[in-house]
Amino acid sequence: MSLIDSFVAAIPMPAVLIRADERIAAANTDAERLLGRGIVQRHFITALRQPTLLDSIEATLRDGKPRLTSFLTNDGRQDTTFRVSCRRVELDSGPGVLVTFEDITHLEQAGQMRRDFVANVSHELRTPLTALMGFIETLRGPARDDAAARDRFLGIMQNEAGRMNRLVGDLLSLSRVEADERLRPTGRVDLPALAAEEIGRLTPLAQDAGVTLLIEGATEGFPAIPGDSDQLRQVITNLLENAIKYSGQGARVTVTLGGPEYRPRLRQNGVSLSVRDTGPGIAQHHIPRLTERFYRVDSHRSREMGGTGLGLAIVKHIVNRHRGRLRIESAPGRGTTFTVLLPAEIA
Ligand code: ADP
Repeated sequence: MSLIDSFVAAIPMPAVLIRADERIAAANTDAERLLGRGIVQRHFITALRQPTLLDSIEATLRDGKPRLTSFLTNDGRQDTTFRVSCRRVELDSGPGVLVTFEDITHLEQAGQMRRDFVANVSHELRTPLTALMGFIETLRGPARDDAAARDRFLGIMQNEAGRMNRLVGDLLSLSRVEADERLRPTGRVDLPALAAEEIGRLTPLAQDAGVTLLIEGATEGFPAIPGDSDQLRQVITNLLENAIKYSGQGARVTVTLGGPEYRPRLRQNGVSLSVRDTGPGIAQHHIPRLTERFYRVDSHRSREMGGTGLGLAIVKHIVNRHRGRLRIESAPGRGTTFTVLLPAEIA
């Protein structure tokens, strides 16, 4: 291997060296994976093919100035984007160009996710805001002296303002949970006590909805587990509130605690908490997407129930922070079970 070959081979990204005669003098294995095998000695035009990239290489060969451009391709799973740098190199045979390809697909994706998120939040806030503005206008105009209408409209306005308040609250929790995601929780949590407390607190809500709340499973001798108790409380609340909201009159919601034992999905000892309901269930194709922000099976019903579409996204982040796993099992007409597995110790 020549000195030049060994330099190009050591560059930690796809790299191609082009000579003054416009042929490829060297390419590393990452470049062969990206552009095809056997490109060395070929004319760079036949190996690289994308016009903007070819123009940049030609220009750098001509004037020696560094250039940045991009290269778009598909790795068989997804579209990928590379930021490509063309820089002049002095070779024995004359001035050449070193072309390196930096994969920036994840940056592009993060940017797209941020834009989608802002668009979603704006949309979610705009709906109640538009309603509020409409009612304010009506109250100042046509309904000014109509006491009955005023009462009714104020009731609706209170609901809409409540919706905005819940949305902002959930957004703040989500951003706090995301910020902490890499920090290991330092507290100790008595999960059965937390579950019993939340069941007590939500019993009136369940009674209003005609839903029965039950708790079962091992609570005696249950070990304290590592965790953040406010966050684990939020997990239980969100799962219970959903089960109550979506199950409907006459349903039963059961919280089951499973004591410490080896959990293959955690590859260590862990405990489990599951919330099972006898509600309508969820069709299979929705299940993998439920924890996405703002994903709803039936947006009309979720809004009617006061949902923000963020509850399960928050649950997912909290469970991740605890190095746990969330499993969702459901089938239409068969009810739904959310199971949280949590490590008994975090290494
Ligand atoms: P939301 O604020 O809409 O309840 P979540 O993130 O908590 O948002 O839940 C996402 C969606 O998952 C809900 O809109 C609902 O369609 C569905 N879902 C959640 N829990 C249940 C359940 N226990 N039974 C049926 N559907 C559920």
